[in-house]
Parts: sequence; C-alpha cells; structure tokens
Amino acid sequence: MIEQIYEKVSEFKRISFDEGVKLFKEGDFLTLGKLANKVRFKKHPKKLVTFILDTNVNYTNVCYVGCSFCAFYRKPHDREAYTLSISELISKIEEAQSKGITTALIQGGLNPELPYEYYLKLVKELSKSTVHVHAFSPPEIDLMCRISGKTTDDVFEDLKDAGLTTMPGGGAEILSERVRKEISPKKISTDRWLEIMKKAHEHGIRTTATMMFGHLEMEEDIIEHLDRIRALQDETGGFTAFIAWDFKKENNELGKIVNRTVTGIDYLKIVAIARIYLDNFDNIQASWASQGKDVGELALHFGANDMGSMLVEENVMREAGFRAQSSVDEIASVIRKAGFKPALRTTDYKIIKYL
Ligand code: SF4
Repeated sequence: MIEQIYEKVSEFKRISFDEGVKLFKEGDFLTLGKLANKVRFKKHPKKLVTFILDTNVNYTNVCYVGCSFCAFYRKPHDREAYTLSISELISKIEEAQSKGITTALIQGGLNPELPYEYYLKLVKELSKSTVHVHAFSPPEIDLMCRISGKTTDDVFEDLKDAGLTTMPGGGAEILSERVRKEISPKKISTDRWLEIMKKAHEHGIRTTATMMFGHLEMEEDIIEHLDRIRALQDETGGFTAFIAWDFKKENNELGKIVNRTVTGIDYLKIVAIARIYLDNFDNIQASWASQGKDVGELALHFGANDMGSMLVEENVMREAGFRAQSSVDEIASVIRKAGFKPALRTTDYKIIKYL
C-alpha cells in the first residue's frame, strides 16, 4: 500500500528498492514534495539555501567514446576539436577568478593522446592559486589508469600529491547496465564507476554523485541508480551531494530516438524521490541550470537544499542547445523568493558568506 510507504518516509525510515519503485510510480506528486521537504528540514532545519560560484572548464572536447547523448565531443581531426594547453587553461581560470569564482570544475572528453603528466601538471599548477580544483570524473580517472599503466590507487595517490581534494560525479548518467549499453556502450561500466568513486573516497577525495535522466531509462533504472550510490555512501560517506539533470535532445544521436520531453514536474519528482531515497546524503541540489530558475525555485520545496552552481562558463549543455545564464544577485533573489536565506558556499559546503 502506498500509504504505508508514505508513513515510513514520514517516520524517517529507510525505504527499500521495491518501495522506491512503487513510490516513484504511484506516489502523488504533491505528497512526494511534502515528504521530501519534511526529510530536508530534518537534515537542514535552517531556512538556508546555498550555492557556489564556479566555472566549468573543459580542457579538451576530443573524445573517443562517442556517447549517443553527447553534443559536446569532437573526433580528433574535426575542425572544432580543441585541447587547451595548461597555460591556456590557467588564463581561463584566472579570468573567471577575476569575476569572483572560488571553484574550477574541470572535465574533458576522453582524449587518449594526452599524456598522464598533463593531468598531474594541470592539478599541480592550478593548486598554486587560491581557486579550489574540482576535477576529473571516473571515466577520466579510468583513462589515466590505462595510459599510465598504473592502478587506480596509484593514480589517486599521484593526483592527491598534485593537490586534488574533490572530484565531480560525472559520467554516471544512469547506473544501470541495461541503459548504459544503449546510450554509452563504450563508457566505463556501472561497477567501474562505483569502484573508482569508492577508491576516491578511501583516499579522502570527496565527490558528488550525478544522474542524467529523461531518455531511455525506466523508473526501476532510476531507483537502481539511487540504490547503488546509497549503498556506496553507507560504506564510505564520501559523497557530498546528489545532482540530477535532464537529458537535452538537441544536436545528438539519442535525441533523434527519444520522443519524450522532461517537464518541470518530472524534474521536481526526481528531486523529491532522490531526497527521500538517499537518506544518507546531506545535500540534494536543485540544478536551476538544467530546468530554469522557476523550476529551480520550486525544487527548494521538493527536498533540495542547494541551488548548485552559478557558472561563469559552461559548454556541455550549451552544445545541446540549452543556455542558462544568471548572476549571483539573480540566484540569491530566486532563493529569497522561495522563502529561504541565500548563502555562498565552498565545494565542501562550508558557508563563505550570507547574502
Ligand atoms: S559524455 Fe563524455 S565520454 Fe561521452 S562522448 Fe561526451 S565527452 Fe565523451
């Protein structure tokens, strides 16, 4: 009975995989929001919503993997293919720093031509500045292992020595092999993604966990994704936050066969389900850059306690036809409009200043 699951959530008890699927399929939209909000206020009693000012720099768009949902990657000899030198990357970040960023989110395509030393130098050089380096998702770590012939542990030791302390949770898409085989067959498997995250956490490198939904997945796949990251969080406690964004259809192969469109309601439901299911995650982000500011504002009443990033530079969603722009004042006013106090935070969720 769905009411029994509502009651369980209301009493802050963990729900099972089957209960999660049932809640997702049959749960009343507003009841889900109310329950998610209750769970959110148990974890974060203050009416405070945080966000970070950062930049998302992609050091290369060259990638051999060719995921069907990706509008960003280019083949090595494409006219638009690029790889930034370390000094070009540093100038981009210095420019963003002059606009006030505190964190640089650095990710790339999987470019097998880049030597292992490039990644270490990148972190080492950037770590000399005051910007926080938040770099490399699990598929990039896997590539580093393969080009260097080193183990995952050794790669993390090297990156840590260079100055890496946190990593983004990209490359997860949906952590279900059924879906991954269809949308990104050449990307690392679910097990490898989780193994790399586990190693990162064991080395003291905290990470986020992400999910890209709204394509070929079913409700069961989404709960499987949440279930796998919840289990790892039980083991390591290394995830700082969960971030969901929806698939953008423009300029990619997958968009030609997906005939559904993710609505604001779909997005809010995902945020609420994540808040309820991920009972061991402190932070659930409302990715306003994914669905716009109005949905972002509503997500703060569906379990989210963080507005994600105010990005100075973003390339991946822009290539897929989605351009989200804002300013610190605008995000702060969206948060106030929703009835919360805004605050700028660090990558590891420490308050920098109240706005
Ligand atoms: S999503 Fe990442 S791994 Fe997949 S094609 Fe795009 S850049 Fe490459």
